[in-house]
Amino acid sequence: MCFVLHSMLLARPRQDSAKINPSDRAALLQKIDRRAEHFTGLSHQIWEFAELSYKETQSSQLLKSELRNVGFQIQENVAGIPTAFTASWGQGKPVIGILGEYDALPGLSQEALPEKKVRNVAAGHGCGHNLLGVASALAVVAAKDFLAEKNLRGTVRFYGTPAEEGGAGKVYMARAGAFQDCDVVLAWHPGSQNYAGWRNSLANISAKFRFRGKASHAAIAPEQGRSSLDAVALMNHAVELLREHVPESTRMHYVITNGGAAPNVVPDFAEVYYLARHPDMSTLDGIWARILKCAEAAALATETRMEMEIVSSVHNVLPNDTLNMLLDRNLRHVGGIRYSVEEQTFAEKLRTTLSIENAPSLGSQEQIQRAEEARDSGSSDVGDVSWLIPTGHLWTATFVPGTPLHSWQATACAGMSIGSKGMLVAAKTLALTAADLFSDSGQLEGAQASFKKRRAGHEYRSRIPANQKPPLNYRDK
Ligand SMILES: [Zn+2]
Ligand SMILES: [Zn+2]
Repeated sequence: MCFVLHSMLLARPRQDSAKINPSDRAALLQKIDRRAEHFTGLSHQIWEFAELSYKETQSSQLLKSELRNVGFQIQENVAGIPTAFTASWGQGKPVIGILGEYDALPGLSQEALPEKKVRNVAAGHGCGHNLLGVASALAVVAAKDFLAEKNLRGTVRFYGTPAEEGGAGKVYMARAGAFQDCDVVLAWHPGSQNYAGWRNSLANISAKFRFRGKASHAAIAPEQGRSSLDAVALMNHAVELLREHVPESTRMHYVITNGGAAPNVVPDFAEVYYLARHPDMSTLDGIWARILKCAEAAALATETRMEMEIVSSVHNVLPNDTLNMLLDRNLRHVGGIRYSVEEQTFAEKLRTTLSIENAPSLGSQEQIQRAEEARDSGSSDVGDVSWLIPTGHLWTATFVPGTPLHSWQATACAGMSIGSKGMLVAAKTLALTAADLFSDSGQLEGAQASFKKRRAGHEYRSRIPANQKPPLNYRDK
């Protein structure tokens, strides 16, 4: 027994010398093409489910059962989150993870049509996460086949990460140690251009500021009241003045979530919900401290009591040069997206509903952009993973060029063939990249070196309080 095992180990090719040859590359892509129809069907099912963050029960079940059926080992309920899971296949190191998401957005219900028409559900996949989770699942299945055929050592793992849209699911999964033994992570996101990297990701912190004052009759005894709404107004005014004195790349937004109930009652309770962003987390810390001072000053002036509850926070994405170069190379090998006649008609019609000034032109979906030429921004909990483990990132044109994320137009594209074509480009690029990483330990070392260089000694620490539990019901309201 021992001898057989030993011989098997010796029979394995040396991983640092085994680069993938063109015929293996072609075979891997052909296998993905053979599974394309089935996986496109899965993405349509998840698009139909359109489940909100932390409520992605059917979507996560579907992906779990698909991966279980082809031999992956499933770990459920990661970090105590019912819709978080990992699916692993293989043995030992290296462990290569691919991130999957599957949450939808409230208010973005839409048929797969180029004109506005809501479905009979409230939510919609306006960020294309139905494509995101399925492409990553298809990529791990293809990487598993490659590992098995080549008899290579290593583990490929799908990360089922819920609640990307504001719930910071990955932060809680990371805290629970889900990424501890992982060597490299690959991630992607649907977009309206094809490129590797993430140029303008923003770190963010969000919190609810609650003010408690003293109620009184607003006409008979206003002098006895202490208005919590005044405190909110004063805080917002202070932040508006602060806006001039923060770095230009800062974003600060707020909504009043409780402003009292009646104008003839001095409100004894009011709440304002803030979100601040900056490309660098340590700069954001300083900006956040000043926002907090605005809240404290407002409480002082209005003689109310203020409390702050951090809702969420994610880091900016730390780019990994080695992994992004590898993804770029493979993306160029796979190529961009060609529309059929019907898709071209759909795209032209959809673009009449968009503001396309300065937007990428129709036809740009056929090309591969360089990250420096591309437009992106926003925040993602992929950022936190990228500060823990070398993380490569990819965007593909699943949406008609010029389509903004979080729009009904994005929901429409994610439910039809334009979305599916972009999804397959992502699956192929991720699978080829995983195969490269399993075959060439030099790439893994490069990814590690790039990670260390970019991180420059900064240790990762989430700004979400350590005792805070995943906000499983934050979408209930
Ligand atoms: Zn989104
Ligand atoms: Zn998204």
